[in-house]
Amino acid sequence: MKDEMMTKLETIYADYYDGLYSEDQLKTMLKRLYSESQIDITKWSEMLLDAQWKYATEEDYRNKREQLDLEAELEGGGIMFFCDCGGLLLVEKVEAYPERYNGNERLDYDRSCTAKCPDCNKVYEGLKYD
Ligand SMILES: [Zn+2]
Repeated sequence: MKDEMMTKLETIYADYYDGLYSEDQLKTMLKRLYSESQIDITKWSEMLLDAQWKYATEEDYRNKREQLDLEAELEGGGIMFFCDCGGLLLVEKVEAYPERYNGNERLDYDRSCTAKCPDCNKVYEGLKYD
């Protein structure tokens, strides 16, 4: 089921990079697939990134890298989440580390975060951040 979805995603991105779809059409298709798939949002974001990178041109890849690096600088992490409308979620709030934790314990601690979609304003809570 997941492999089948991955193949679909890769095909969609390949066509998108060939210029067959506009960005809006791409988002609509991704949104439809996501609602049909019932895959959890974190897994889905990873699949989208994999599918994007498989067919991305070097320029796309470089742009994406730069975007991730920029976000890493801004947020202290490079994680991307996608809304079920296909929009890229913006991390709004990251859980604080428990105060008593030292450096190593903090490295092992998985923080959660709240993210919001700038396109449809949907808010996602409790996403895995680390
Ligand atoms: Zn959205």
